Amino acid sequence: MGIETLIYEGKAKKLFSTKDENILIQEFKDDATAFNGQKKGQILNKGVINNQISTRLYQYLESHFISTHFLKKVSYNAMEIRKLKMFKLEVIVRNIAAGSICKRENIAEGTVFPSPLLEFCYKDDSLGDPFITTEEILEKKLANAKEIEIIRKMTLKINALLKDFFLRRNLKLVDFKLEFGIGKDKSIRLGDEISPDTCRFWDATTNEKLDKDRFRQDLGGVENAYEEILSRIS
Ligand code: ADP
Ligand code: UDP
Repeated sequence: MGIETLIYEGKAKKLFSTKDENILIQEFKDDATAFNGQKKGQILNKGVINNQISTRLYQYLESHFISTHFLKKVSYNAMEIRKLKMFKLEVIVRNIAAGSICKRENIAEGTVFPSPLLEFCYKDDSLGDPFITTEEILEKKLANAKEIEIIRKMTLKINALLKDFFLRRNLKLVDFKLEFGIGKDKSIRLGDEISPDTCRFWDATTNEKLDKDRFRQDLGGVENAYEEILSRIS
């Protein structure tokens, strides 16, 4: 499917239209941002690596009956996807405490949660993607009760699948963010990306951070960490 025009450029990806109105090309950029866009930089080769990681993970999820937007990888840094009507929501899953929850609830980084915590955020950059309750989601008509229930179930299944997938590769899936949308067939599908930009991964033996926290916290070795994740899942 040939690329037509750029329809959206975000912080980490570009979306292009194609001849088929239901199909888009999603291109991954090397640009990196953190802290709601306040910190900006570039991670060498990130676009190429995240395209490969996301491709692998979407194929894995599809093979386990999770509906996603993924169709095929079309170039080194781009994939063909189904166009979805996105919910203005970010779904965050936490298996281990890290990042914002440590400050918010005064929990030590590394605390393991007995069962996964699921949070919804309202996807609005101008507000800084704030935490949102189910009642507010309904009130703002961001999703209906049935959709929220399906998103919850899909998210927990994705977490169970990915947690095991990564543990078999000696990686802890600490937390991650998902985005969902509705496809032409009216089904709810997983969209966006799954990569070290959107997940926290720790080496299961050493707890070494192998994700965007290396960029956020200026830990160095950012490119190597992304490459390490790719090599472990390839
Ligand atoms: P942001 O918009 O937060 O800067 P990105 O740079 O990752 O983020 O941009 C990708 C955009 O594409 C996001 O707004 C995301 O919601 C949207 N998106 C992801 N998957 C799809 C899809 N299948 N169809 C339509 N839009 C999508
Ligand atoms: N996350 C993301 N995009 C966002 C917010 C969070 O991909 O806009 C991911 C983040 O990489 C981490 C998880 O969601 O894997 C939980 O993030 P957290 O709420 O701790 O926020 P952060 O510490 O990243 O500000």
